[in-house]
Amino acid sequence: MDLSIPEEVEIMRQEVSRFVDEELAPHEKEVEEREEIPAELRASLRKKAAELGLLSLGVPEECGGAGLDILAQAILWETFGKVSLPLVLGILPEGYELLAHGTKAQQDAYLAPCLSGDATSCVAVTETTAGAEEDEVALTARRDGDHFILDGKKIFVANGDVADFAVVLARSDEAAGPRHGLSCFVVDRGSPGCLVGERRRTLGLHGVNFVELTFDACRVSAEHVIGEVGAGFALMRSWRDEARLKLSAWCVGMGERLLDGAKEYAKQRYTFGKPIAERQAIQWMLAESATDLRATRMMAYHAAWKKSLGEEAHKEVAMVKVFATEMFHRLTDRALQIHGGLGYTKDLHYERYYRDARMLRVLWGGSESLRSDISESILAGA
Ligand SMILES: Cc1cc2nc3c(=O)[nH]c(=O)nc-3n(C[C@H](O)[C@H](O)[C@H](O)COP(=O)(O)OP(=O)(O)OC[C@H]3O[C@@H](n4cnc5c(N)ncnc54)[C@H](O)[C@@H]3O)c2cc1C
Repeated sequence: MDLSIPEEVEIMRQEVSRFVDEELAPHEKEVEEREEIPAELRASLRKKAAELGLLSLGVPEECGGAGLDILAQAILWETFGKVSLPLVLGILPEGYELLAHGTKAQQDAYLAPCLSGDATSCVAVTETTAGAEEDEVALTARRDGDHFILDGKKIFVANGDVADFAVVLARSDEAAGPRHGLSCFVVDRGSPGCLVGERRRTLGLHGVNFVELTFDACRVSAEHVIGEVGAGFALMRSWRDEARLKLSAWCVGMGERLLDGAKEYAKQRYTFGKPIAERQAIQWMLAESATDLRATRMMAYHAAWKKSLGEEAHKEVAMVKVFATEMFHRLTDRALQIHGGLGYTKDLHYERYYRDARMLRVLWGGSESLRSDISESILAGA
């Protein structure tokens, strides 16, 4: 496995770094305190991101994108890890990349406006009556001539109230097995029968708007199915594996930031006549965090590399998602501990990342659920 960064990716990485430092980071505190990204700010940042090509990273060149593989995207997502996740998720819409599998008409109507920063999207998978995994979807899509009728409810749809359209995973064939009867639909905001619920308040990740989408006899044209009818499981699983890898890379980037802060603080904070950096207890926390980060980066790059070769990597992605998010939780805890009482205050950002870290072990598949996936693969000999 070659870990050198290709020149075009390095140029892009510098672009991301500049965008994050100059455009996103100044808004971190405001977004945290308001618990939302103001609409005008969201729109202007998205437009700037589009101008820099940051919205087209993983979209194939033939669809107007930059065509970067997932390894290159993971490297860039590590750099997005210099700023809070809600800002990143608020600017880079989710799900529109799936339209690369759609028709030309779908790409013109939905993908192109996302690439230019004029539209934004969300992904609706999680439900109350079923698990959050792709194969447990209960929301039904009943065929009615040239249309499908969607009935059911999706929960925790990130930024579902500001997205122009949602990519919705629904059960289009109840007789087919759990993994074969699913399809992905594009549903426009404001479609009759699609209701957007109130935002839920959460412990952390302030600035991500979590809403419910209720589908009550919502009529969607058959032309809004992405890819083949019945191909939804494979499409969504592949997309979510990429999302898990990007999230893991973000954890590495943000983890570096927290470790740097803890290191600097340990050098300047004196107790009993010595900087705490000279105490073995503190040194071990720093050493464990640095080791954790190195291990996560290697795991993330390896899983991304495997996936970018077109090989099946669901097990490796599950492993890195579990490891990265649990690592990030340990690391925020240590960084806060090294800062003592100051780390617990809102004057610094450690308490915020501590709260945000808690949810990452749940988002896009809980650690326990992913461990089940991993053991299923191992037991099957994969
Ligand atoms: C920031 C954020 C953004 C999100 N964005 C979206 C979004 O845009 N779209 C969307 O659809 N959803 C989104 N979600 C929802 C998220 O993906 C789910 O909350 C998550 O996948 C867990 O599903 P759940 O809440 O239904 O928990 P459950 O699946 O009910 O899990 C509850 C507990 O049981 C465990 N568990 C579940 N299944 C198994 C199993 N098979 N074996 C062992 N243990 C198991 C879990 O690990 C967890 O501990 C988002 C959540 C967050 C926090």
